[in-house]
Amino acid sequence: MRIETDLKLGFKDVLIRPKRSNLRSRSQVVLERTYSFLHSRRQWSGIPVIAANMDTIGTFEVAEVLAEHGLLSAIHKHYSLDEWDAFLNGRDDAIYQRIMVSTGSSDADFAKLGLILAKHPKLEFICIDVANGYTESFVEFVRKARATYGDKTIVAGNVVTGEMVEELLLSGADMVKVGIGPGSVCTTRVKAGVGYPQLSAIIECADAAHGLRGRIIADGGCACPGDVAKAFGAGADFVMLGGMFAGHDESGGQVLERCGQQFKLFYGMSSSTAMDKHAGGVAEYRASEGKTVEVPYRGPIADTVRDILGGVRSACTYVGASSLKELTKCTTFIRVQEQENRSLS
Ligand code: 5GP
Repeated sequence: MRIETDLKLGFKDVLIRPKRSNLRSRSQVVLERTYSFLHSRRQWSGIPVIAANMDTIGTFEVAEVLAEHGLLSAIHKHYSLDEWDAFLNGRDDAIYQRIMVSTGSSDADFAKLGLILAKHPKLEFICIDVANGYTESFVEFVRKARATYGDKTIVAGNVVTGEMVEELLLSGADMVKVGIGPGSVCTTRVKAGVGYPQLSAIIECADAAHGLRGRIIADGGCACPGDVAKAFGAGADFVMLGGMFAGHDESGGQVLERCGQQFKLFYGMSSSTAMDKHAGGVAEYRASEGKTVEVPYRGPIADTVRDILGGVRSACTYVGASSLKELTKCTTFIRVQEQENRSLS
Protein backbone atom coordinates (compact mmCIF):
# COMPACT_ATOMS: atom_id res chain seq x y z
CA MET A 1 0.00 0.00 0.00
CA ARG A 2 1.11 3.54 -0.78
CA ILE A 3 -0.32 6.97 -0.02
CA GLU A 4 0.02 9.90 -2.42
CA THR A 5 -0.06 13.15 -0.50
CA ASP A 6 -0.18 15.64 -3.41
CA LEU A 7 -3.23 17.82 -3.15
CA LYS A 8 -5.98 16.95 -5.66
CA LEU A 9 -8.78 19.44 -6.29
CA GLY A 10 -12.40 19.40 -7.37
CA PHE A 11 -14.45 22.25 -8.86
CA LYS A 12 -15.64 23.28 -5.42
CA ASP A 13 -12.07 23.88 -4.22
CA VAL A 14 -11.26 26.71 -6.63
CA LEU A 15 -12.48 29.92 -8.21
CA ILE A 16 -11.11 31.67 -11.29
CA ARG A 17 -9.16 34.83 -10.44
CA PRO A 18 -10.39 37.91 -12.35
CA LYS A 19 -7.85 39.85 -14.41
CA ARG A 20 -7.67 43.23 -16.16
CA SER A 21 -9.10 42.95 -19.62
CA ASN A 22 -9.97 45.15 -22.56
CA LEU A 23 -13.00 43.12 -23.63
CA ARG A 24 -16.06 45.31 -23.60
CA SER A 25 -18.80 42.76 -23.67
CA ARG A 26 -19.31 39.08 -23.31
CA SER A 27 -20.98 39.10 -26.71
CA GLN A 28 -17.47 39.57 -28.19
CA VAL A 29 -16.33 36.19 -26.86
CA VAL A 30 -16.04 33.44 -29.47
CA LEU A 31 -16.98 30.03 -28.09
CA GLU A 32 -16.55 28.08 -31.35
CA ARG A 33 -13.43 25.99 -31.59
CA THR A 34 -11.86 24.07 -34.45
CA TYR A 35 -10.01 20.86 -33.69
CA SER A 36 -8.27 18.38 -35.91
CA PHE A 37 -8.02 14.85 -34.62
CA LEU A 38 -4.91 12.74 -34.22
CA HIS A 39 -5.91 9.51 -35.96
CA SER A 40 -9.05 10.25 -37.96
CA ARG A 41 -7.42 13.42 -39.33
CA ARG A 42 -10.86 14.96 -39.48
CA GLN A 43 -11.64 18.53 -38.55
CA TRP A 44 -14.46 19.63 -36.31
CA SER A 45 -15.84 23.09 -35.57
CA GLY A 46 -18.43 24.01 -33.01
CA ILE A 47 -19.00 24.79 -29.35
CA PRO A 48 -17.29 21.96 -27.48
CA VAL A 49 -20.03 20.99 -25.05
CA ILE A 50 -21.49 17.46 -25.32
CA ALA A 51 -24.70 15.93 -24.00
CA ALA A 52 -23.80 12.72 -22.13
CA ASN A 53 -24.61 9.32 -23.64
CA MET A 54 -27.16 8.54 -20.92
CA ASP A 55 -30.57 7.35 -22.03
CA THR A 56 -32.37 10.39 -20.60
CA ILE A 57 -29.76 12.88 -21.94
CA GLY A 58 -28.23 11.64 -25.19
CA THR A 59 -31.61 11.54 -26.94
CA PHE A 60 -32.34 12.46 -30.54
CA GLU A 61 -34.62 15.26 -29.28
CA VAL A 62 -31.78 16.79 -27.22
CA ALA A 63 -29.38 16.36 -30.16
CA GLU A 64 -31.66 18.29 -32.46
CA VAL A 65 -31.72 21.38 -30.22
CA LEU A 66 -28.05 21.20 -29.26
CA ALA A 67 -27.11 20.89 -32.94
CA GLU A 68 -28.96 24.15 -33.68
CA HIS A 69 -26.70 25.82 -31.11
CA GLY A 70 -23.50 24.21 -32.48
CA LEU A 71 -23.07 21.73 -29.59
CA LEU A 72 -22.57 17.95 -29.77
CA SER A 73 -24.60 15.05 -28.37
CA ALA A 74 -23.36 11.54 -27.63
CA ILE A 75 -26.44 9.56 -28.62
CA HIS A 76 -27.06 6.76 -26.11
CA LYS A 77 -26.45 3.20 -27.22
CA HIS A 78 -29.98 1.89 -26.66
CA TYR A 79 -31.59 3.21 -29.85
CA SER A 80 -32.36 0.55 -32.45
CA LEU A 81 -31.15 0.72 -36.03
CA ASP A 82 -34.72 1.60 -37.07
CA GLU A 83 -34.72 4.55 -34.70
CA TRP A 84 -31.38 5.72 -36.13
CA ASP A 85 -32.79 5.39 -39.66
CA ALA A 86 -35.86 7.43 -38.72
CA PHE A 87 -33.77 10.18 -37.11
CA LEU A 88 -31.24 10.51 -39.92
CA ASN A 89 -33.66 10.12 -42.78
CA GLY A 90 -33.80 13.32 -44.87
CA ARG A 91 -31.54 15.27 -42.54
CA ASP A 92 -28.92 17.75 -43.66
CA ASP A 93 -25.30 16.46 -43.57
CA ALA A 94 -24.45 19.11 -40.96
CA ILE A 95 -25.91 16.79 -38.31
CA TYR A 96 -22.89 14.45 -38.62
CA GLN A 97 -20.68 17.08 -36.94
CA ARG A 98 -23.13 17.26 -34.06
CA ILE A 99 -23.70 13.66 -32.97
CA MET A 100 -21.68 10.70 -31.74
CA VAL A 101 -22.74 7.09 -31.85
CA SER A 102 -22.07 5.43 -28.49
CA THR A 103 -21.07 1.86 -27.82
CA GLY A 104 -19.98 -0.33 -24.94
CA SER A 105 -17.12 -2.80 -25.31
CA SER A 106 -18.90 -6.14 -25.71
CA ASP A 107 -19.04 -8.18 -28.93
CA ALA A 108 -22.76 -7.44 -29.16
CA ASP A 109 -22.06 -3.71 -28.87
CA PHE A 110 -19.43 -3.95 -31.62
CA ALA A 111 -21.82 -5.80 -33.88
CA LYS A 112 -24.58 -3.22 -33.36
CA LEU A 113 -22.13 -0.37 -33.97
CA GLY A 114 -21.18 -2.11 -37.22
CA LEU A 115 -24.79 -2.21 -38.36
CA ILE A 116 -25.39 1.47 -37.59
CA LEU A 117 -22.17 2.60 -39.30
CA ALA A 118 -22.72 0.38 -42.34
CA LYS A 119 -26.16 1.92 -42.85
CA HIS A 120 -25.01 5.46 -42.00
CA PRO A 121 -21.39 5.74 -43.15
CA LYS A 122 -21.43 9.53 -42.78
CA LEU A 123 -21.44 9.25 -38.98
CA GLU A 124 -18.09 10.73 -37.89
CA PHE A 125 -17.80 10.11 -34.16
CA ILE A 126 -17.72 6.88 -32.16
CA CYS A 127 -17.90 7.17 -28.37
CA ILE A 128 -16.65 3.98 -26.68
CA ASP A 129 -17.81 4.27 -23.12
CA VAL A 130 -17.16 1.98 -20.19
CA ALA A 131 -17.25 2.71 -16.46
CA ASN A 132 -13.66 1.55 -16.03
CA GLY A 133 -11.30 2.38 -18.88
CA TYR A 134 -8.31 0.73 -17.19
CA THR A 135 -8.77 -2.85 -18.35
CA GLU A 136 -6.59 -4.61 -20.90
CA SER A 137 -9.70 -5.79 -22.73
CA PHE A 138 -10.91 -2.19 -23.12
CA VAL A 139 -7.60 -1.15 -24.66
CA GLU A 140 -7.90 -4.09 -27.07
CA PHE A 141 -11.43 -3.00 -27.98
CA VAL A 142 -10.15 0.51 -28.77
CA ARG A 143 -7.44 -1.02 -30.99
CA LYS A 144 -10.02 -3.12 -32.79
CA ALA A 145 -12.28 -0.11 -33.31
CA ARG A 146 -9.39 1.92 -34.73
CA ALA A 147 -8.35 -0.93 -37.05
CA THR A 148 -11.93 -1.28 -38.31
CA TYR A 149 -12.86 2.40 -38.53
CA GLY A 150 -9.68 4.18 -39.59
CA ASP A 151 -11.36 7.44 -40.56
CA LYS A 152 -13.79 7.82 -37.66
CA THR A 153 -13.07 10.09 -34.72
CA ILE A 154 -12.94 7.78 -31.71
CA VAL A 155 -13.64 8.78 -28.11
CA ALA A 156 -12.58 6.32 -25.40
CA GLY A 157 -13.09 6.42 -21.65
CA ASN A 158 -13.38 6.81 -18.79
CA VAL A 159 -10.03 7.24 -17.09
CA VAL A 160 -8.53 9.88 -14.78
CA THR A 161 -4.75 9.59 -15.01
CA GLY A 162 -2.20 10.70 -17.56
CA GLU A 163 -0.56 7.34 -18.23
CA MET A 164 -3.88 5.77 -19.20
CA VAL A 165 -4.79 8.76 -21.39
CA GLU A 166 -1.53 8.16 -23.24
CA GLU A 167 -2.17 4.44 -23.58
CA LEU A 168 -5.64 5.01 -25.05
CA LEU A 169 -4.38 7.67 -27.46
CA LEU A 170 -1.55 5.39 -28.58
CA SER A 171 -4.09 2.58 -29.02
CA GLY A 172 -6.16 4.58 -31.48
CA ALA A 173 -8.39 7.00 -29.56
CA ASP A 174 -8.54 10.59 -30.81
CA MET A 175 -10.11 11.82 -27.61
CA VAL A 176 -10.15 10.43 -24.10
CA LYS A 177 -13.05 10.89 -21.73
CA VAL A 178 -11.96 11.86 -18.23
CA GLY A 179 -13.92 11.33 -15.01
CA ILE A 180 -14.37 8.52 -12.52
CA GLY A 181 -16.76 9.22 -9.70
CA PRO A 182 -17.75 12.90 -10.06
CA GLY A 183 -21.11 12.40 -11.81
CA SER A 184 -24.35 13.76 -10.36
CA VAL A 185 -25.94 10.30 -10.28
CA CYS A 186 -22.75 8.31 -9.82
CA THR A 187 -22.13 6.30 -6.66
CA THR A 188 -18.75 4.77 -7.58
CA ARG A 189 -16.96 6.72 -4.83
CA VAL A 190 -19.45 5.41 -2.27
CA LYS A 191 -19.73 1.84 -3.55
CA ALA A 192 -16.14 1.22 -4.57
CA GLY A 193 -14.21 3.97 -2.81
CA VAL A 194 -12.56 4.74 -6.16
CA GLY A 195 -12.27 8.14 -7.84
CA TYR A 196 -10.19 11.23 -8.51
CA PRO A 197 -11.10 14.90 -7.88
CA GLN A 198 -12.26 16.12 -11.25
CA LEU A 199 -10.41 19.42 -11.61
CA SER A 200 -7.03 17.76 -10.98
CA ALA A 201 -7.97 14.87 -13.27
CA ILE A 202 -8.69 17.37 -16.07
CA ILE A 203 -5.44 19.32 -15.53
CA GLU A 204 -3.29 16.18 -15.47
CA CYS A 205 -5.05 14.36 -18.31
CA ALA A 206 -5.12 17.44 -20.57
CA ASP A 207 -1.39 17.81 -20.10
CA ALA A 208 -0.79 14.16 -21.02
CA ALA A 209 -3.15 14.27 -24.02
CA HIS A 210 -1.92 17.54 -25.48
CA GLY A 211 1.64 16.25 -25.44
CA LEU A 212 0.51 13.60 -27.95
CA ARG A 213 -1.83 15.91 -29.92
CA GLY A 214 -4.82 14.12 -28.40
CA ARG A 215 -7.90 15.72 -26.88
CA ILE A 216 -9.81 15.23 -23.68
CA ILE A 217 -13.46 15.43 -22.75
CA ALA A 218 -14.09 16.40 -19.12
CA ASP A 219 -16.98 14.15 -18.18
CA GLY A 220 -19.02 14.56 -15.02
CA GLY A 221 -19.24 16.74 -11.97
CA CYS A 222 -20.35 20.03 -13.52
CA ALA A 223 -23.27 21.27 -11.46
CA CYS A 224 -23.45 24.88 -12.70
CA PRO A 225 -22.15 26.98 -15.61
CA GLY A 226 -19.21 28.11 -13.43
CA ASP A 227 -18.02 24.50 -13.22
CA VAL A 228 -18.12 24.26 -17.03
CA ALA A 229 -15.95 27.40 -17.19
CA LYS A 230 -13.56 25.87 -14.62
CA ALA A 231 -13.32 22.65 -16.67
CA PHE A 232 -12.36 24.61 -19.79
CA GLY A 233 -10.02 26.78 -17.72
CA ALA A 234 -8.32 23.60 -16.48
CA GLY A 235 -7.58 22.50 -20.05
CA ALA A 236 -10.58 20.44 -21.17
CA ASP A 237 -11.06 20.46 -24.94
CA PHE A 238 -14.68 19.38 -24.54
CA VAL A 239 -17.03 19.23 -21.55
CA MET A 240 -19.69 16.52 -21.28
CA LEU A 241 -22.83 17.19 -19.23
CA GLY A 242 -25.46 14.86 -17.80
CA GLY A 243 -27.30 16.31 -14.82
CA MET A 244 -27.22 19.89 -16.10
CA PHE A 245 -29.18 18.73 -19.16
CA ALA A 246 -31.66 16.61 -17.16
CA GLY A 247 -35.30 17.48 -16.54
CA HIS A 248 -36.06 19.25 -19.84
CA ASP A 249 -38.76 18.75 -22.46
CA GLU A 250 -36.23 17.02 -24.72
CA SER A 251 -34.73 14.78 -22.01
CA GLY A 252 -36.04 11.21 -21.99
CA GLY A 253 -38.75 10.01 -19.62
CA GLN A 254 -42.15 11.12 -18.42
CA VAL A 255 -42.98 14.25 -16.45
CA LEU A 256 -44.18 13.17 -12.98
CA GLU A 257 -46.45 15.24 -10.81
CA ARG A 258 -46.00 15.34 -7.01
CA CYS A 259 -47.83 17.75 -4.71
CA GLY A 260 -48.49 20.10 -7.63
CA GLN A 261 -44.83 20.17 -8.70
CA GLN A 262 -43.48 18.59 -11.88
CA PHE A 263 -40.42 16.35 -11.99
CA LYS A 264 -38.57 14.14 -14.44
CA LEU A 265 -36.76 10.92 -13.65
CA PHE A 266 -32.97 10.98 -14.09
CA TYR A 267 -30.72 8.02 -13.38
CA GLY A 268 -27.19 6.75 -13.75
CA MET A 269 -26.50 4.29 -16.53
CA SER A 270 -25.42 1.67 -14.02
CA SER A 271 -28.27 2.39 -11.60
CA SER A 272 -30.75 -0.39 -10.97
CA THR A 273 -33.33 1.67 -12.94
CA ALA A 274 -31.14 1.57 -16.08
CA MET A 275 -30.15 -2.06 -15.58
CA ASP A 276 -33.76 -3.15 -15.07
CA LYS A 277 -34.66 -1.32 -18.26
CA HIS A 278 -31.83 -2.49 -20.50
CA ALA A 279 -30.22 -5.58 -18.99
CA GLY A 280 -33.03 -7.32 -17.13
CA GLY A 281 -31.74 -6.28 -13.69
CA VAL A 282 -28.46 -5.83 -11.81
CA ALA A 283 -26.21 -8.87 -12.26
CA GLU A 284 -25.55 -10.88 -9.09
CA TYR A 285 -21.80 -10.14 -8.99
CA ARG A 286 -22.04 -6.38 -9.21
CA ALA A 287 -23.41 -3.47 -7.18
CA SER A 288 -25.38 -0.76 -8.88
CA GLU A 289 -23.09 2.27 -9.12
CA GLY A 290 -25.69 4.85 -10.01
CA LYS A 291 -28.58 6.68 -8.39
CA THR A 292 -32.11 7.40 -9.51
CA VAL A 293 -33.39 10.89 -8.75
CA GLU A 294 -36.38 13.05 -9.61
CA VAL A 295 -35.24 16.43 -10.90
CA PRO A 296 -37.58 19.43 -11.12
CA TYR A 297 -39.00 19.87 -14.62
CA ARG A 298 -37.10 22.71 -16.30
CA GLY A 299 -38.84 23.44 -19.62
CA PRO A 300 -37.01 23.73 -22.95
CA ILE A 301 -33.33 22.78 -23.00
CA ALA A 302 -32.49 25.77 -25.21
CA ASP A 303 -32.84 28.08 -22.18
CA THR A 304 -30.34 26.01 -20.22
CA VAL A 305 -27.92 25.97 -23.17
CA ARG A 306 -28.05 29.79 -23.29
CA ASP A 307 -27.47 29.97 -19.53
CA ILE A 308 -24.41 27.68 -19.71
CA LEU A 309 -22.87 29.44 -22.70
CA GLY A 310 -23.56 32.82 -21.06
CA GLY A 311 -21.63 31.66 -17.99
CA VAL A 312 -18.64 30.52 -20.02
CA ARG A 313 -18.63 33.80 -21.99
CA SER A 314 -18.71 35.68 -18.71
CA ALA A 315 -15.72 33.71 -17.36
CA CYS A 316 -13.81 34.56 -20.55
CA THR A 317 -14.54 38.29 -20.13
CA TYR A 318 -13.44 38.24 -16.47
CA VAL A 319 -10.00 36.89 -17.42
CA GLY A 320 -9.55 38.75 -20.71
CA ALA A 321 -9.95 35.77 -23.05
CA SER A 322 -11.55 36.90 -26.32
CA SER A 323 -12.19 33.27 -27.26
CA LEU A 324 -12.69 29.96 -25.51
CA LYS A 325 -9.40 28.86 -27.05
CA GLU A 326 -7.56 31.39 -24.87
CA LEU A 327 -9.37 30.58 -21.64
CA THR A 328 -6.89 28.01 -20.31
CA LYS A 329 -3.87 30.24 -20.72
CA CYS A 330 -5.75 33.16 -19.16
CA THR A 331 -6.88 31.09 -16.16
CA THR A 332 -5.37 31.30 -12.71
CA PHE A 333 -7.23 29.24 -10.15
CA ILE A 334 -7.27 30.29 -6.53
CA ARG A 335 -7.89 27.73 -3.84
CA VAL A 336 -10.89 28.67 -1.78
CA GLN A 337 -12.91 27.40 1.12
CA GLU A 338 -16.14 28.99 0.05
CA GLN A 339 -18.23 29.08 -3.11
CA GLU A 340 -21.55 30.89 -3.32
CA ASN A 341 -23.37 32.65 -0.51
CA ARG A 342 -26.31 30.46 0.41
CA SER A 343 -27.67 32.53 3.28
CA LEU A 344 -30.89 33.31 1.40
CA SER A 345 -31.42 30.03 -0.46
P1 5GP B 1 -22.97 14.70 -14.59
O1 5GP B 1 -22.84 15.71 -15.66
O2 5GP B 1 -24.37 14.25 -14.39
O3 5GP B 1 -22.30 15.12 -13.31
O4 5GP B 1 -22.12 13.42 -15.06
C1 5GP B 1 -22.45 12.71 -16.23
C2 5GP B 1 -21.53 11.50 -16.32
O5 5GP B 1 -21.74 10.61 -15.22
C3 5GP B 1 -21.80 10.60 -17.52
O6 5GP B 1 -21.33 11.13 -18.73
C4 5GP B 1 -21.09 9.32 -17.11
O7 5GP B 1 -19.69 9.37 -17.34
C5 5GP B 1 -21.31 9.30 -15.61
N1 5GP B 1 -22.37 8.34 -15.25
C6 5GP B 1 -23.59 8.21 -15.80
N2 5GP B 1 -24.28 7.22 -15.21
C7 5GP B 1 -23.48 6.70 -14.26
C8 5GP B 1 -23.63 5.63 -13.33
O8 5GP B 1 -24.65 4.99 -13.20
N3 5GP B 1 -22.55 5.38 -12.53
C9 5GP B 1 -21.38 6.09 -12.63
N4 5GP B 1 -20.37 5.75 -11.85
N5 5GP B 1 -21.22 7.13 -13.48
C10 5GP B 1 -22.26 7.41 -14.29
